[in-house]
Amino acid sequence: MKSAGDPLPDVSQNELQAMAYRDPLTGLGNRYRLRDKVRLIAAERADDPAPFTLGIVNLDGFKPINDLFGSEAGDEILCQVAFRLKACIPDGATVTRHEGDEFAILLPLVFEKLSAERLGQMIKDVLSAPYDLGDRHVRLSASLGFAVYPFAGAEFEELLKSAETALYRSKRRGRGQITVYSREIAQEMKRSTQLEQALRNAIIADAVEVYFQPIVRIRDASVVGFEALARWNDPDLGFVSPAVFVPLAEERGFIDALSHALLRKAAEAALSWPRELFLSFNLSSAQLMDSGTAGAILSTLSRVGLDPARLELEITETAVMTSADTAERIIADLRRVGVRIALDDFGTGQSSLGRLRDFTFDKVKIDRAFISRITVDRATEHIVRAIIAMCDGLGLEVVAEGIEEQADAEKLRALGCAMGQGYYYGRPIDAAATQHYLQQHLRIGDRSGESRETA
Ligand code: C2E
Ligand code: CA
Ligand code: CA
Repeated sequence: MKSAGDPLPDVSQNELQAMAYRDPLTGLGNRYRLRDKVRLIAAERADDPAPFTLGIVNLDGFKPINDLFGSEAGDEILCQVAFRLKACIPDGATVTRHEGDEFAILLPLVFEKLSAERLGQMIKDVLSAPYDLGDRHVRLSASLGFAVYPFAGAEFEELLKSAETALYRSKRRGRGQITVYSREIAQEMKRSTQLEQALRNAIIADAVEVYFQPIVRIRDASVVGFEALARWNDPDLGFVSPAVFVPLAEERGFIDALSHALLRKAAEAALSWPRELFLSFNLSSAQLMDSGTAGAILSTLSRVGLDPARLELEITETAVMTSADTAERIIADLRRVGVRIALDDFGTGQSSLGRLRDFTFDKVKIDRAFISRITVDRATEHIVRAIIAMCDGLGLEVVAEGIEEQADAEKLRALGCAMGQGYYYGRPIDAAATQHYLQQHLRIGDRSGESRETA
């Protein structure tokens, strides 16, 4: 045995040096190794700067696996990823690991976008195959960002930053995306950062509004409730669609703040409607992965004073699928106190039928894509008919979304669809206009002597 006082032999010096360049877990080179390699290639090509490509690979969904199965399983996956990357990259290329679930690949013979994308696709496919964890298999996907030298940066730091910008865009677009850096993409990212800042400010200033769109009983066009839809009109940016800013708030991690401000406003407005009308509110998928969601919703309702039995939450299949256990718990907690759950955009997701059995929903909203074709396309009509029959059998209520024409409404009525929503019945309008609408509507209803009691 060696005592602490022994001088380190020369080979240890080398080993120390090597360690400084190596990722101890996977045995791959680390960030310093990458930096040196990039500088070396750049120097070699100094006279005739031929392009080469730097790529970053980031695993999608790694963190939940780490949390769920433990860090040992996480380490095992990282080693398998390292192995696969080494095995699939072209000759002369280098793989390094930066930190966490992020790897870099240096590709001396990839000169332009198309080849980078093709290689990215191959890497993505290789990483998507199941990972063997002894008694179980798990699946992951990967997002990639590429930067081509020297256009995306003549210095290592700049090139790396460009590859990270490209990766960031891939991540933002969802799982398994591949992006090659360009000036346009840098612009796009800059715009979305501006949008993010403006949205954060709007939330703080309480400037994001809620509009309401009537949901009616098709039989007599009587209103049974309203769906709350977020509206944001920025003084500089103009009207920004919720289909843009809701996902942005999700990605940047402040959907909670946005959603609770919206729910508060929507619930306050609903207080002044007739009691039998419900408020339907959209929950984003990120909220169904957050175990604090049920508590936060109920505390908003109680602060405003709205009966939970008047609230419906619209959720999508993608949301329940990504984090099934948490979603199930949130749904159960909310249903226990009388909140109802509607499955939104039905028919657009995957494995719809199984979901209906596994989860406890109260209502299904058939996506607009079906309704808009219902009078012109026989196949669509049959699909809608089948959805309605299935929901009847399962004891679920049905709402048809996106009814724009009287003919759509008549067809749906003939098919036995109980409820509908769409421009034909009313566009989304603000809280004051909703009040006005209700006064008009209720007066007409009174004259025709119809009851608006919801069963
Ligand atoms: P969604 O939940 O499917 O909402 C229905 C969308 O269809 C709304 O678009 C509505 O204005 C539009 N629409 C309603 N009837 C018709 C029709 O007859 N024809 C056509 N062409 N469109 C119709 P909007 O308000 O732009 O919202 C887009 C999406 O943004 C919503 O889709 C929802 O996913 C999301 N969203 C809106 N507000 C919120 C919110 O407060 N929270 C969350 N998490 N998401 C929201
Ligand atoms: Ca909705
Ligand atoms: Ca919808």
